[in-house]
Amino acid sequence: MAVMTVDPFACDDAELGEILDGEPAYRVRQLRGWLQRGVDDPQEMTDLPAALRARLAGRLDPPGRVLAHRTADGGQTHKLLLELGATDAAGSATGADATQGAGSPAAEAIEAVLMGYPRTAERAGRATVCVSTQAGCALGCPFCATGQAGFRRQLRVGEIVRQVTALQRRLREGAIAIPGVPDHVTNVVFMGMGEPLANVEATVAAIRWLHDPERGLGLSARSITVSTVGLVPGIARLTELGLPITLAVSLHAPTDALRDDLVPVNRQFGLDALLRACRAHQEATGRRMTFEYILIDGVNAQRAHAEQLAALLTRRDAPRVAHVNLIPMNPTPAVPWHAPPLPDQQAFAGVLQAAGLPATVRHNRGGDIDAACGQLYAEQRLGSGRLLPAAQDAWQRWPIQLETGP
Ligand code: SAH
Ligand code: SF4
Repeated sequence: MAVMTVDPFACDDAELGEILDGEPAYRVRQLRGWLQRGVDDPQEMTDLPAALRARLAGRLDPPGRVLAHRTADGGQTHKLLLELGATDAAGSATGADATQGAGSPAAEAIEAVLMGYPRTAERAGRATVCVSTQAGCALGCPFCATGQAGFRRQLRVGEIVRQVTALQRRLREGAIAIPGVPDHVTNVVFMGMGEPLANVEATVAAIRWLHDPERGLGLSARSITVSTVGLVPGIARLTELGLPITLAVSLHAPTDALRDDLVPVNRQFGLDALLRACRAHQEATGRRMTFEYILIDGVNAQRAHAEQLAALLTRRDAPRVAHVNLIPMNPTPAVPWHAPPLPDQQAFAGVLQAAGLPATVRHNRGGDIDAACGQLYAEQRLGSGRLLPAAQDAWQRWPIQLETGP
């Protein structure tokens, strides 16, 4: 018989009240306060009576467990390998059940990444967290390590949000201290493992929680970015949400013919429909958007591709563009592709800039060995608890182990 647990981050006050049945009303506020501070293990909620803590431990989704904490970029990037869900197979649900509230979701290890950007003369310091929304991804983009690993399960709202609160707690408590970087999270990017808009309701609820000043973290909508491969109904759902978050669309190809290969879901939602959905989001929110474009040598990075891309993004019906992020491809084991040489990357950016598009070549955080965001699977623990051989290798190369789990 599966244990029925509840995701407290997905509950409103009335639902939390039901879980706290028989307790005074202020307990709801106390429980929320702990969750906001990144304490999700009832045993640590010291102002609750012991009996209530024990009851909550049986009712709420299990707390996240930090399996490892590593740093890179001279201490400015921190990764947590977080285990979420139930550890005992008997008490866990899988697949669709994992998001429907029946049972505890099955254990999965995912990564949350903190990137510190110290303040400069021109701008304030930032602490940006990159979150995963799914364990794995079903969309199969051939250049993407997460896609190659396949889909494991959806993350619940609380499993997305906990990635942020776990890192914020470490910043607040000084376990992570980066000179010139605030002691709290300032930005969240949905750019980790998985496709946020293929888990759209959990993503929307996580955005609301992060934005909510009373119940959540009170982050400004502008400091939240959702990166999507371009699921048109999901973009429409974000438009309905009506918050001026930043939309980042992973384009990767300037024509349907090429995009059908590089982003297979393009066969379902072609470029015309995608640009229309982006434009509608822009008109509703007033935000300029970002396009991401991986540069793959000999595949999508020739001058002709840059010219086609410039023509596409300056079309009259195209959305207004804040930025084109050109991302030199990070190698992954499954395909023999790699980034073009530096001068070709600069030339590609030059063509876009000449057409009036702000374009820059972005170098991923996390060292040249392994991107901070976007290809997180390399370290994903498989359901069996085994690490892929490539994963073990990548994980070993992170230099310092600061923390290990139970
Ligand atoms: N599913 C969403 C968000 C996760 S991927 C999306 O595709 O947008 C986040 C970013 O990492 C995307 O822009 C993705 O294209 C990029 N990425 C994936 N594999 C990569 C690789 N091998 N090298 C560089 N960037 C990669
Ligand atoms: Fe999924 Fe994004 Fe990777 Fe494509 S690039 S497989 S959508 S995570």
